[in-house]
Amino acid sequence: MTIRYSRRSFFAHARAALASIGFSSVMTPMRAIGAEVSPEDNGVDYYAKLGVQEIINAAGTYTSLTAAIMPESVQAAVARAAKHPVRLEELQLAAGSYIAKRLRCESALVSAGAASALTLGAAACVTVANDRRGERIPPLMPQGMDSLKNEAIMQKGHRYGYDHALLNCGVHIVEVETLDEYRAAFTERTVMTHFFNAATSGRISREDWIRVSHEHKVPSMNDAAADMPPISNLWNYTQMGFDLVCFSGGKGIRGPQNAGLLLGKKELIAAATRNNNPVDDVVGRGQKVAKEQIVGMVAAVDWLLSQTDEGMEREFRGRAQRIADYLSSVPTLTAQIYVPEVANHVPTLLLRYDQEKVKIAPLEVAKMCRHGSPSIELHPATGAPEPGLPGDANTIVVGVWMLQPGQDLIVAERLKQILMTAAGTRAS
Ligand SMILES: *Cc1c(COP(=O)(O)O)cnc(C)c1O
Repeated sequence: MTIRYSRRSFFAHARAALASIGFSSVMTPMRAIGAEVSPEDNGVDYYAKLGVQEIINAAGTYTSLTAAIMPESVQAAVARAAKHPVRLEELQLAAGSYIAKRLRCESALVSAGAASALTLGAAACVTVANDRRGERIPPLMPQGMDSLKNEAIMQKGHRYGYDHALLNCGVHIVEVETLDEYRAAFTERTVMTHFFNAATSGRISREDWIRVSHEHKVPSMNDAAADMPPISNLWNYTQMGFDLVCFSGGKGIRGPQNAGLLLGKKELIAAATRNNNPVDDVVGRGQKVAKEQIVGMVAAVDWLLSQTDEGMEREFRGRAQRIADYLSSVPTLTAQIYVPEVANHVPTLLLRYDQEKVKIAPLEVAKMCRHGSPSIELHPATGAPEPGLPGDANTIVVGVWMLQPGQDLIVAERLKQILMTAAGTRAS
């Protein structure tokens, strides 16, 4: 295929170009990005067969970019699980109790991603508050049951793009801003309070949020989907007192993209389980996690707990630094390695330059990377400010943590070509 041919020639070029400055030893073997796949070893290459382009992910754990690549041990566990049928409920329960032990919480459930964990968590709260009458929510809420308790309290600054995961359960969101408003917002109909862990606005702290919720005997859920690392966050929020905590399985944990974690109190996880498949007539019926991905989620937790925050940070910072060093001859370019505070708490590379001298806008650079070969996706905050990152219209943002070994240098080489050309200088 043309794409393959040009990718190979790109590698040849990159190798030659990089060898002289000591990068040859870290150039990835071609296999690592799937350039050479033997059908005997790995089955048919369906991306090639379907004409779907493989990309280099210099963005991050974005859903639309298929988030993370599972580590080898997780891929192997998934492949092995595919070879045998089991009883789904037995696997769900066993996986949940194994994960609960490893992540130091009472109980756990493998969901179909963090969004599904939010829905199942909300369903659990509705169910418990209504003495299980809420089990078949929302489409089968019988007539005359409009007295079903269904209010969820959130800070106004925590309303976000995942509201719908709660609204699926027929809940009504009550907004508050101050602690006094929060205290006054509890009614007979309150079923839960909800906290968006990475929110950049909102005046009420996690501790106050939990305390007031518990004063009213109402469970509190926290969406921390993208908030690992640090690894300890996987138990910090349940131990802080949140009754339910949601994580994405396919982001930093590097499990299957369609898996996630709902962690928390026994009674609530049990209620979430009753709202989950394989039960048919419930809100979670369409959120199935297959046996392969349940096992993959467990294996990913095992993999992650074999890592350290320091080791991951060192690796990501090293990648960012190598790219920055390689670009140091680009006129006026300055590099900053920035670690966002809560979500995606990993070293991220920001590149700025004088567009009078290097005559190309960051958005244009992103476009050229995308349409080049290999196709590279830069961080979406490139040229467009995003909460949690100090970027702007003049900044290129390179997310390094989802790169495969050696790809940092492919990204560096491509950026250098583009920027040097725009500066009227030949890339060397
Ligand atoms: C990514 C994300 C989700 C959804 O996670 P999935 O695992 O893709 O379902 C929910 N909430 C927040 C804050 C997220 O960042």
